[in-house]
Amino acid sequence: MTKKALITGLTGQDGSYLAELLLAKGYQVFGLVRRSSTSNLERITHLSGNVEIVSGDLLDQSSLMDVIAESQPDEIYNLASQSYVPLSWTQPALTAEYTALGVSRLLESIRRCKPDAKFYQASSSEVFGQPDESPQTERTAFRPRNPYGVAKAYAHWMTVNYRQKYNLYTCCGITYTHESPRRGTEFVFRKITHTAAQIKLGFTNELKLGNLDARRDWCYAKDAVYAMWLMLQQEQPDDYIIASGETHSVKELVECAFNCVGLNWQDYVSVDPAFYRPDEPVQLIGSINKIKTELGWQPQHSFEELVKSMVDYDLTKLSNGRA
Ligand code: GDP
Repeated sequence: MTKKALITGLTGQDGSYLAELLLAKGYQVFGLVRRSSTSNLERITHLSGNVEIVSGDLLDQSSLMDVIAESQPDEIYNLASQSYVPLSWTQPALTAEYTALGVSRLLESIRRCKPDAKFYQASSSEVFGQPDESPQTERTAFRPRNPYGVAKAYAHWMTVNYRQKYNLYTCCGITYTHESPRRGTEFVFRKITHTAAQIKLGFTNELKLGNLDARRDWCYAKDAVYAMWLMLQQEQPDDYIIASGETHSVKELVECAFNCVGLNWQDYVSVDPAFYRPDEPVQLIGSINKIKTELGWQPQHSFEELVKSMVDYDLTKLSNGRA
């Protein structure tokens, strides 16, 4: 029988990749989308006709119950949230409404309308904030340092609590930064690969960055969504870290991106304090021992391959006048 999946956050980077994966596996895919006066469907135009768009909002409990009752999904992936960390400081309450309470509403809707559905909650490495160990594991204490991380920590523990209290199949994937050509240019990875391509093609001749020594555990979004799907195919639900298991600095990223276009990064890059973060987390690096051992998952793309594929994507797009 055809499996059915409901994705929240369909229009985001992960939602669009997950929808592609599930469609390729023969799922019927429903995407929960907020009603909006302007279209935000550009990441999924290639999927139109294949994904059934259903209207609902994480702020509205009854819309979630209706969508779940009507679509009867076997699997539900909650990838929606207010996910931009700086904005969580200027809109902390709204961030909590979507990112924290939205998950309460979803869990409660599942419990009432489709308790045998399997649920994936997108947790984030931001829950660790200022962790007291590195690499972090599934047992590392949560010490979030911004409203987004606090909201994600609440959502994480609610998901675990619904598993324990109601015996629902609910899982949290604690993802570290994951990137792709569908990532916005406000994030440093895409900013660098996109600007390197622009410089190569003569559209600009400078790249202003913040802290070049900041380190991140970057992985490819396609690898990450495969891990999400895998987590819902198990006998027992559990929580896993989804990461690359290695870190690279912003400087290494710049060097690698400029190497891809045959330029010397020092000729173009300058440091602008405007891009410095006052609350920079310490070494965030995920241990992938658990997911590797128990689910056999590990990233299929290296850091260098990811940088190159994103630079190549932007070179092609810019050359065709589309970015
Ligand atoms: P996130 O902080 O992991 O959500 O992702 P970002 O891509 O926004 O930032 C990654 C790291 O890059 C942070 O440690 C920033 O301090 C550092 N960084 C350095 N220069 C920049 C920049 O120009 N823009 C952004 N967004 N981050 C920068």
